[in-house]
Amino acid sequence: MQEKVIQITGSITVDELANALGLSVTTLIGQLFKEGIVATINQRLDFDTASIIIDELGIEGVRLEKKNSSTQISHEQRELSDHAVERPPVVAVMGHVDHGKTTLLDTLLHKKTVEGEAGGITQHISAYQLKYNDRLITFLDTPGHEAFAAIRQHGAMLTDIVVIVVAADDGVKPQTIEAIKFAQGANAKIIVAINKIDREGADVPRTMADLAQHGLQPEEWGGDITMVPISAKQNQNLDKLLDMILLTADLEELKADVDIPSEGLVIESHMETGKGSVVNLLVTGGELKTGEFIVAGNTYAKVRTMVDFRGKPKGKALPSTPVTVTGFKELPNFGDRFIEVADEKAARKMALLNANASADASASANVTSTDLLRMMTKADNSKVFNVLIKGDVLGSVTSVVDSLKMIDTGGEITLNIVATGVGDVTENDVYMATGENTVIYGFNVGVPINISKMAARDNVPIRCYKVIYELLDDAKKEMSKLLDAEIVETPVGKMKIKGVFRTERTAIIAGGEVTEGKCEPGVLARIIRGKEIIGEAKVESVQKEKMGVSELISGEIGGLALSTEHKIQLEIGDKLEFFTREEKRKEL
Ligand code: GDP
Repeated sequence: MQEKVIQITGSITVDELANALGLSVTTLIGQLFKEGIVATINQRLDFDTASIIIDELGIEGVRLEKKNSSTQISHEQRELSDHAVERPPVVAVMGHVDHGKTTLLDTLLHKKTVEGEAGGITQHISAYQLKYNDRLITFLDTPGHEAFAAIRQHGAMLTDIVVIVVAADDGVKPQTIEAIKFAQGANAKIIVAINKIDREGADVPRTMADLAQHGLQPEEWGGDITMVPISAKQNQNLDKLLDMILLTADLEELKADVDIPSEGLVIESHMETGKGSVVNLLVTGGELKTGEFIVAGNTYAKVRTMVDFRGKPKGKALPSTPVTVTGFKELPNFGDRFIEVADEKAARKMALLNANASADASASANVTSTDLLRMMTKADNSKVFNVLIKGDVLGSVTSVVDSLKMIDTGGEITLNIVATGVGDVTENDVYMATGENTVIYGFNVGVPINISKMAARDNVPIRCYKVIYELLDDAKKEMSKLLDAEIVETPVGKMKIKGVFRTERTAIIAGGEVTEGKCEPGVLARIIRGKEIIGEAKVESVQKEKMGVSELISGEIGGLALSTEHKIQLEIGDKLEFFTREEKRKEL
């Protein structure tokens, strides 16, 4: 794989650099923080700062290049090289429920899936490609708008064109408005498909007026929005719609670089028996090939298999191509950016950097004002118990996390959730848990033999439970170990020194009268002269009339052999206070 070149004209924002490196913004901000720079996502970094950060992160295969003039900035705000090539438009079909999105996609693809689908709700985002007039168009099945919003948050633009489907017999509805807002927010071009014109109640001019009221001015009326009356069901005017999509694409001059490491977005991911993780990707740059290493969020893959939307094997995928790949160690999230890296080592490192950053981010997001106060007042005493939680389903992970957070440690221990995830304990989990006070808890999940061997070697405890209370008890025990032991002193007796027979460097032989309680071998003695404590000693043995005894009680006179840490010159008239000292472990 060739070196990736990031060109910097003057400066680059934190967001842009993170995207270009395939790192999360939090990772980058975290690293900047370590370098003493408190940066925000939109902060601009100069060339030198960016270079230092890349060095510090140990990212290889990336070279920064100073650039003097800015070239064309694409829709994605990415600077393209001079040899960027044309790419197909990525089109999302959105609109109110039942206005005909599925039917439209379906008719376009000459497939028949709409009949069996309840309410037309699309569960998963998927993508298809269509050839029209010898040109490709990529269609995205409508995901929930939140999902799109998530992608926007990741700083990536998934769609070039949004086709808003509005039923001519129903007009603008709440989800139509949402779709308009989304498209505008994502800076995508809007084309309206006024659907169901075959219906009796269809009223195209009224629908157009309705849309105009919501800010979409039809071209016919001097505005800038193309509106195409169609019947998705009866395949009327769909060619016109496709023509308009291609025309818009031409005006947008959609391009991508292909001679760069591949990159793109995760548009769907799920587990399949026998295949493991099955992930749909949309390539946005470079050329994705099987066998390549790609990182997405906290995980990475060596692309094992790659198929197109029909399930046909595909050796390589160019920009705007949706593909389904296997080989991810864990499921990446919808909207995660993927990026090709040189080798497994680099992939693992980047995934880890992203994982740590997201753990940091979630940990800090979980801090409440009470926690903060606690941190401020007890900053020095607080100890951190790190846990990594794996569960069979998301629900169990959440309840384990919630229950762990409920353990009251009186503010002495901070629970740090390093990471959470669904599925068996993995190599990456063990990597992440190689730190002090870190335990991996598995709830209803397994640990492959090689992973438990690896964990044993790295001293990473993995504890798997099927009963949540047992898991919590274990966590409490672990946390108790971190609690400072309480030191409890119990008074035993007092003595007045009447004679000092010998004083050595660490030993004293003396005699005296027990004035209170008792004195016995093993107890400690505080030596008091007047009002001052002058030292501490341990009672080694006790004698009465030159015979070793087990104790001297109040009123008795006897001899003592004391041991001391350093030389103490005991004097007649000194007082000894006997006591025991115990360390008591607190239990949660
Ligand atoms: P979605 O919820 O937006 O995906 O809507 P669907 O594609 O599931 O369509 C909802 C209903 O409208 C289905 O019964 C379709 O058969 C019907 N429908 C969709 N497009 C048309 C059209 O152009 N004409 C007519 N008459 N019915 C349509």
